Amino acid sequence: MTISRSGLLTRRAEYTGSDNALAISLERVSRTYPGADSPALSDVSLAIESGEFVSIVGPSGSGKSTLLNVLGLLDRASSGRLAIRGQAVDAASERSLDTMRLRLIGFVFQSSNVIGDDSVISNAAIGLRVQGVPMDERASAALDALEFVGLEHKRKVQAKLLSGGERQRLAIARAIATHPRIILADEPTGNLDSNNSRRVIEYLRKLNSEGVTVIVITHDVDVANQADRRIEIRDGRITSDVETKSQPMPQPRVPVDLEPFGAASQQSWVSRTVCSLMDDWGDALSALSARTLRTMLLILAFAIAIGGMTGALGISSTTSNAINNRLAIASQDRLSISIEDGPGVLRDDFDGLRSGVDRIARLPHVVGASYVYSAVPADVHITRVRPSDLEPETPLSLHSSSKNYFNDFGIELIPHNIRSALDDPLAGPLAVVSTKAAIALDIPYSKKSGPAAGVSVWIDDQLVPIVGVFEPGPNFPEYADSVFVNASIMRAVSRSDLKVQVRTEKGFSAAIARVAPLAYSPSDPGKAKVDVTADIQSIRQDVSNDLGSLIALLSLVLMLLAIITAASSMYLTVQNRSAEIALRRAIGSSRWLICRSFILEGFIVGMTAGSLGGIIGTVTTLCVSWIQAWPPVLPPELWLVGVLLGATTGIVSAIYPAWVASRQDPAIAIRA
Ligand code: ADP
Repeated sequence: MTISRSGLLTRRAEYTGSDNALAISLERVSRTYPGADSPALSDVSLAIESGEFVSIVGPSGSGKSTLLNVLGLLDRASSGRLAIRGQAVDAASERSLDTMRLRLIGFVFQSSNVIGDDSVISNAAIGLRVQGVPMDERASAALDALEFVGLEHKRKVQAKLLSGGERQRLAIARAIATHPRIILADEPTGNLDSNNSRRVIEYLRKLNSEGVTVIVITHDVDVANQADRRIEIRDGRITSDVETKSQPMPQPRVPVDLEPFGAASQQSWVSRTVCSLMDDWGDALSALSARTLRTMLLILAFAIAIGGMTGALGISSTTSNAINNRLAIASQDRLSISIEDGPGVLRDDFDGLRSGVDRIARLPHVVGASYVYSAVPADVHITRVRPSDLEPETPLSLHSSSKNYFNDFGIELIPHNIRSALDDPLAGPLAVVSTKAAIALDIPYSKKSGPAAGVSVWIDDQLVPIVGVFEPGPNFPEYADSVFVNASIMRAVSRSDLKVQVRTEKGFSAAIARVAPLAYSPSDPGKAKVDVTADIQSIRQDVSNDLGSLIALLSLVLMLLAIITAASSMYLTVQNRSAEIALRRAIGSSRWLICRSFILEGFIVGMTAGSLGGIIGTVTTLCVSWIQAWPPVLPPELWLVGVLLGATTGIVSAIYPAWVASRQDPAIAIRA
């Protein structure tokens, strides 16, 4: 026998007070979706008392889910008034709605939306976690809920291993673990066979018998028949509202005015914070470990970028140190003096040049002095086979020097016995080449005996035999690609640069710089100008600054790439996890909580990658310095820089995806 409820409906629709016996009341509620022609809910007035078991039926598209979303505070009505347990919620803030959902309402959706990689018990405890229930109480409350649906023996199993029916029972356990006053179930048996459907309904019935208000949307006639009241809805309007059972309403087991599972509020602030931090870490770690490959690739991308950055720091420190040392040494014991009118001196005053150089060489604390005469590279044409051939791709410079130069500056000439011939004005044309120039000119040579016998090159249109090779080494990069000839060849070159290179005892270069011009030319010291040694200090600084900024720029690009990679990967994760996020929101997680969990994931990924990157950077620096035979300079903060960089960039890359996740509309996402 069915009894019309229209009397109650009218009476309850006028309700404005705070009668706790009324679970939900709606007064002329409409919901029109943006862009829709007609409202999905139109002028719905309805009152549901605490402890009722109500089914909502109607054809597809009639507005059932819309109604359920409005009742469950997942969606707001466009107009009308809604009160939950006597409290008007139309103007309530989003945070208050989250709290009400968390404390009063439990959801069971058609798709169970369990988190497959988590255990059954931790699925059942999600709501308790959001409520901030302490861990020990949480475990026992979740176990109670699992016992209620007969799943306690599966508590440690991963939820993805459950059957469809078991998952739906788990969804019920999850919904009831927080002791909600109202259960809203949207097609809870939609995906189940008749046997499992019956069990699910039994549990809902059992819950109802313990005082919980149950509202079920269903297509299933059997389910609808189990309810005490059936509300039919068509085109967004209630077309019938009848009582289907005559038995008395169950007495609530828990007094309705008692707070739901509210142990959280009795905890101290500190233990609540610690508990929620541990939960956040646990959630983030389990989300990351559920997608191992993605997490590992993400960490790797970050680690490489951070490794690049910290490595860059280490390498730039090491390189600057090496350059500094070299320049410092050079500035301590080397001196370069430019002589005016090089071509003129070579042509008319070669003897003057030699005696000037000798005078400098005899100064106290001078180890040796030699002239080096360098042609402007564009003025000479050096080829191997024919003078008309193209020059090698590497531009070769042409120099001439006195006999002691190589010796004074420790440049090894092979073979050793050619040294004097180079400087002999009576000797015919001859040349020695740097090893790199020998390769560029295709000159066969051996490191023991020098160039193959009888090899020569063309310098302009003069055939010049090669009598030796030398390795200028890292201290003389300016001679890396060079050919040294005897002075007679240089006389043909019109534009040239003449210098006297002086090697002093360590620390005497500045003192010698002051007297060398006078020693070179006592009558006209202005002919000789010392290349300013002080410049070396500023060059040192510039080189190390330039290197630092170049490497920093490169690292920044790497870092940006890592952030973009991480952000897009997290964004995709948010898309994949939209159902889970919606579920958490439905349970009552605030937007901030959702946001926080993604940012924490970014932080964990970034920090792990940062530590790894710090190690990569250190190892790279060690390798580079070992290969270059430089003493490694490892700033002690290198590893810390890596970790901090990683953590910061991890957070930065998570901000946008976290924001997207927190803005998801649970009502829409749960349907998807
Ligand atoms: P039911 O649950 O009875 O199948 P719904 O409440 O899902 O019906 O939908 C009612 C009407 O509102 C349908 O016409 C549906 O297309 C429309 N609708 C539902 N959700 C949205 C939405 N987010 N935006 C626009 N239209 C929607």
